[in-house]
Amino acid sequence: MIENSFFPWQIEIADKYLGKSDKIHHAIILYGLKGIGKFEFSTAFAASFLCENHDSKFACKKCISCNLIEKNNHPDFKLLIPNSIADEKKISMSFDEKKNTSYSSNEIRVNQIRDIIPWVNIKSYRNNKKIVVIYKADYLNTISSNALLKMLEEPSDDIFFLIVSDCLDKLLPTIVSRCQILHLPIPDYQIALSWLKNNNVDNSNHWLSFSSNAPIDALHYSMRRKNPCPSWVYNFLELLSNNLDVNVFSMLDSYPDDIFINELIDIFQKLFFDLILVSYKFYPKYFIDMKNILDKLSIRSTTAILINNFIWLNRKKKLSDQQVNKKIFLNSILNKVIVSFT
Ligand SMILES: [Zn+2]
Repeated sequence: MIENSFFPWQIEIADKYLGKSDKIHHAIILYGLKGIGKFEFSTAFAASFLCENHDSKFACKKCISCNLIEKNNHPDFKLLIPNSIADEKKISMSFDEKKNTSYSSNEIRVNQIRDIIPWVNIKSYRNNKKIVVIYKADYLNTISSNALLKMLEEPSDDIFFLIVSDCLDKLLPTIVSRCQILHLPIPDYQIALSWLKNNNVDNSNHWLSFSSNAPIDALHYSMRRKNPCPSWVYNFLELLSNNLDVNVFSMLDSYPDDIFINELIDIFQKLFFDLILVSYKFYPKYFIDMKNILDKLSIRSTTAILINNFIWLNRKKKLSDQQVNKKIFLNSILNKVIVSFT
């Protein structure tokens, strides 16, 4: 199902842009921090853009167009998305769309772009306008980026592109230069907090801090575990903070399968960032409920070692996307953490 409502923190900016939809640039890049709801913004924008009920700027959710969008079945709407993300977002795709993404689930493949060329060049079916949402453009490879660029260079009159990205630097500069840029800001803290509370998230402030105030990420993480710091990691840190022996091999055996390596590196990076802050007598930024244990750990190390480890983890993060042996990789991380506090 395609989402056709904006989140509360998006209403103002959506209102501003949809208000001038007649004069809108033919291509917009929507960018902003991961986890603030850019996907939902883009689909709600598409639904509002195509809605045939002109009493409201936003999708009315009643007209035929709104119904078709919701089912991802609107003839004037195309969503280009990597297969892996479509599964995660529970978006139904046609057999042909699936086929084009199945070989490399984390990419937007050139076939996905080429397949919409005939559609781009015919007249719209319903209301003299068509919209393509590309999510996430960060996953365009070089060939598909160039295919998209060609499309942007020769736009038909009724087509509108909404290109969504976490990071502008990952896009071809020639694509960026042909688009209007729309930055989706990090939501206001209080609005995000009350949205999380309305979604029954306990300790919403802890999750929001852990997620750099990105509420969708905060909600997602809160559904996966009890606290921002997994109990497995917390127990490990507690042993270290009390100068007790850690048996790395038994830890590796009990490592929960549902935590991915890159997720674990992210957790340790945030922990080291907080340890650096605490070593300078500041409050932690990510693990706001762990000040005591972070205090105890930071006095067992030096700021220089903490900074070095943060940088070392950054390098490890780049390797984590490659095929690596999970246990060997994890072993090196745990040992590096252990020697920081002895
Ligand atoms: Zn409608």
